[in-house]
Amino acid sequence: MIKQFLLAPGPTPVPARVRAALARPVIHHRTPQFGEIFGRVREGLKELFGTSNDVLMLSSSGTGAMESAVVNCFSPGEKVLVVNGGKFGERWVKLAEMYSLDPVVLTVEWGQAVRVADVEAALKDNPDIRGVLIQASETSTTASHPVQEIGRLTRDKDILLVVDGITAVGVYEVPMDDWGIDVLVTGSQKAMMLPPGLAFISLSDRAWSRSESVCQPRYYFDLARERAGQAKNSTAYTPAISLIFGLDEALAMMQEEGWSELYARHDRCARATRAGCTALGLRLLAPDTPSSAATGVFVPDSIDGKKLHGYLRDKMGVAFAGGQDQLKGKILRLAHIGYIDVFDTVTAIAALEMGLHHFSHPVQLGRGVGAAQEVLMSALPD
Ligand SMILES: *Cc1c(COP(=O)(O)O)cnc(C)c1O
Repeated sequence: MIKQFLLAPGPTPVPARVRAALARPVIHHRTPQFGEIFGRVREGLKELFGTSNDVLMLSSSGTGAMESAVVNCFSPGEKVLVVNGGKFGERWVKLAEMYSLDPVVLTVEWGQAVRVADVEAALKDNPDIRGVLIQASETSTTASHPVQEIGRLTRDKDILLVVDGITAVGVYEVPMDDWGIDVLVTGSQKAMMLPPGLAFISLSDRAWSRSESVCQPRYYFDLARERAGQAKNSTAYTPAISLIFGLDEALAMMQEEGWSELYARHDRCARATRAGCTALGLRLLAPDTPSSAATGVFVPDSIDGKKLHGYLRDKMGVAFAGGQDQLKGKILRLAHIGYIDVFDTVTAIAALEMGLHHFSHPVQLGRGVGAAQEVLMSALPD
């Protein structure tokens, strides 16, 4: 196959405009020229996060921002509620344990969203909880958690709401200030249409004041130090200069499209993907609370999911993601995040049909595609 399609929930395809920006000559970062670009992307990121606070840029993958949230906001021994509904929820648990917090873990069945009532009950049972750590979109199960509703439980108490928004920010609206989110993080290689290597984090006023008294070792991820530098369009250490050129272009593309169309596009491609999979008789992993970033779908029992995934990627040139842990070989995750539109979605469903057909699963070719097209028609202008 001469053409490759990257349809996994991160890394995601990088548009040509962004790739061209990445290829610009590197300039020195302590210059007015770099400062101008840095200042512009700072403003764009605030719009994206829905916050009047700074959004800090870190040179790391998304997990670096998660780690920096933990080490800047919580001291050893402090109790936190961790929602664990998949691989990334599990990562919050591990980070909390690593830095000697006292995590109360709310385990959620994979594919489900946490129930708000369960969060409320856990907070009532543990009045000494100082923070809630959660994903907005649990990429490993393609379910989304009710972060807005949880914000209503935490915003009037001394509880920091820390949200991993890595496949939510830029996919659907996560207005940090409006929802009472205290820490929001994302990474470059998901909805931001960039290669991996940048992470973003913003803290609310009360998270900043909490951070002043937190005693945890931190050096590279000392956010107070970063904030002081970035307010002057500079960074504490050498920034990922080329990625910031790319970010400038990616934010320009998002702004040209418009935030509401950006979110509508993700929603439309997600609905079309679900419709296509359902029309093929496949069972969705997160039918009740699906994330608009990716759709998890069970592979028919008669097929080895790993083989189907490999065949689609290596022989057909369409790379989805598989499942992790207990879902290994059992599911495919079809992404519709970032630089993805109508015909990527059609491609995804068409490839899935052909792959199933190849493995002798009874499919009527075109059936899933037709169902997806019905949904996608609404994207077309009159
Ligand atoms: C991708 C992802 C991460 C991890 O990001 P890395 O960039 O691999 O460190 C964390 N949380 C969620 C929800 C993700 O989708």
